[in-house]
Parts: sequence; structure tokens; C-alpha cells
Amino acid sequence: MEPVYNFGAGPAKIPESVLKRAQVELLNYGNTGMSVMELSHRSKTFGEILARTKSNLRNLLDIPDNYEILFMQGGATTQFSAIFYNLVAAKQAAIGEDKDIAVDYFVTGSWSNKACQEAERLSQDMPHVRVNRVADAKKLTGKYGQVPAQDTWQLSDPEQTAYVYYCDNETVHGVEFANVPEVDPRVPLVADMSSNFLSRPVDVKKFGVIYGGAQKNLGPAGVTLVIVRKDLVVDLKKGPLRPLMLDYQTMLDNDSMYNTPPTFAIYMVGLTLEWLLEHGGLTGIQVVNARKSGKLYDAIDRLSLFKSPVQPDSRSKMNVVFNLTTPELEKEFLKGGEERNMVQLKGHRSVGGVRASIYNAMPEEHIDKLIEYMEEFQNQHA
Ligand code: PMP
Repeated sequence: MEPVYNFGAGPAKIPESVLKRAQVELLNYGNTGMSVMELSHRSKTFGEILARTKSNLRNLLDIPDNYEILFMQGGATTQFSAIFYNLVAAKQAAIGEDKDIAVDYFVTGSWSNKACQEAERLSQDMPHVRVNRVADAKKLTGKYGQVPAQDTWQLSDPEQTAYVYYCDNETVHGVEFANVPEVDPRVPLVADMSSNFLSRPVDVKKFGVIYGGAQKNLGPAGVTLVIVRKDLVVDLKKGPLRPLMLDYQTMLDNDSMYNTPPTFAIYMVGLTLEWLLEHGGLTGIQVVNARKSGKLYDAIDRLSLFKSPVQPDSRSKMNVVFNLTTPELEKEFLKGGEERNMVQLKGHRSVGGVRASIYNAMPEEHIDKLIEYMEEFQNQHA
């Protein structure tokens, strides 16, 4: 079969060696005579998979002991609500339920906007909770195409702030924070890293919560990884009723197995982590990712028919979005891509254009192929 160049934003490409290993193990995992999919989540064998996956993640990200790893369901979107419930509760536990609380959101693209809207929705019947947009790129500049400059940020009073939320990499708009935003160390920083999780080293100590859905850099859809600082996990069962499956304490008390976890997805994440460890860990993959995205942006800037809508210092290393000079050329470029087996290059339906998602598993040669095609297209049409 001809190779397929999968530029999908998620579910996305999985390393071929990971898929092959899953294939080899599919019918008989570890001499159990059963597939991983058929193992009880309470079995010793699955327990070992879960424990190994957690310890590999801890090693890769150098996660300190005062942080817990949770495997949750409902996708990253469910965390939009879970973050609010859990961290507002933690703040209320610290300062009292009758005190005013702020939750701060950087809005740099559609995902942080959605997360912020969910906080706005959930806070409607909570007169003491105020949702604050620290900086909304669209309001400031008319579009999502950059991380707003620090002098525009309007952070709330740290004493009152339950958390500061941001999306480290906006998958749809291709906007990535070059640095972790500087906030008062007393305020827990929350990061949605769904689309750049494990693409480079991260100083976990700077965060209250880091989370991400698996289906971009970690494996298949179905599991969401949450890394949470232990002091932010408070017992919600004593407070107003909140959904049990969103409760970090419940997850923690039950080692993410209060109910049946997505066992196969967790197994696949485990294989992907092993692949990452074999490929130089996060410092190794960071170098490759910088090179891969660097050459693609270089082509966009070099070829006159292609344009990046994102300011250079905010350009994503994972989701490279670009436009052509006219909608007709864009259409033709995408069509030609498909003829070359380059799939899922079309930009998100809300923004159009072209988007090449080039996560960890995307081989560099596939990006070289795309650049070759861009050069060819330029020569034919310019
Ligand atoms: N955050 C980001 C940055 C995403 O890219 C996505 C999915 N594309 C989500 C959140 C939502 O994830 P899910 O579909 O797993 O709920």
C-alpha cells in the first residue's frame, strides 16, 4: 500500500512501531491467552500496565512526588468543568464559601474560549465566583493569532484567585505559548496541553494542574491524563453536590478506577510512553519537533503563495496552520494533497485554510514530502 501522510489534528498518527506492537500483543497479552481489551481492570496484569504507565509518565516529565496522575474519561472537554468544580472547591476550602473568588482565563483560541465559557456557565448560580478574561486575543487584536503581550494581562487579585487557566497550544488556531505565563506563585496555574503534551520538557512544579486528551500525542481517544498537585485535591463529597466522575478526590482514592477505566486506551498510552523513552525522551523529541516545525514555517515564509496567520513568536510546533493567497488556490492545494495521499490537511471547519498537525509520531520525511509538494505547487502557480 502507498504510504499515507496523516496530518490529522486528532485522533492523529500513532507511531508505527507502537501499532505493530499492539498488533503482536492483540490476541494474547503477556501470555494471558487474552487480549488487553478482555482483561479485568481489577486484574493483576492490568494493574501492572497502569502502574508502569504512571511511572513512565512520572519519569518522562520528572513529576514531583506531591503531584498525582489521574486517568479520566469524557475527553479534555470534561476537564473544562472538572477544573472549575475542583479548584473552586479547593479555594473555598482554603478561604471560606462566602468569600469572593476569581477564576482567570487567558483566551488565545477556540479551546480556551470554550473552557472559559464553561466556567461562565457553571458560575451562573454562584454569586461569589467571578470569571475574568485575563487577556482575550480576539478582543485585543480582532483574531486569534498570537499570545497577547504581558502588558495587556489583567490578572485578578492573587489572594482571591482560585486558578489561572490557559491553553498551552491552541489546536485550531495554531497558537502556542512560547513560555509558561508568569503568574503569582500563590495561584495555581492550569494548562490544557491536549495538543502539545509530551512534545517537550515541562517544569511541572510551575503548575497546579496539567491535563490533556490522549488522542494527539499519546495514543487513541478515550482517556484524558490529569496531573494535579495534591493540595488542590479536596473532598467534594462534603460540599454542595457535584458530579462524582469529575471529582479528583474520588479518582485519587480509587487509583482512577472508581468505575471501569478505558483499559485499552491506557495500554496504548503506555506503549507510546515507552516509544518516547526509547526515542530520547522529551529533550530528544523537543529537538526533532523544533526541526520539523522550523522547516515547515520556513517554507511558508519563503514561498510567496503561502502565508501564516500566526505571529512568529506564537507559532505552534504541533499544529501548523497556513493559508494560500486565494480560496481557489487553497482548494486546489488541498485537492492535490489528497491525490498525494496527504490526508486531513484541511483547516478546522471553523477557520478553513490548511492545517498540518505534526505531532511526535509524524516522521520528519512526511514533512519533507509536504514541503516538496508546496514547492512544486509554488513553481506551477506563481
Ligand atoms: N483542548 C484542546 C487544546 C483540544 O485540541 C481539544 C480537542 N481537539 C480539546 C481540548 C477537546 O478535547 P476532547 O475532544 O477530547 O474533549
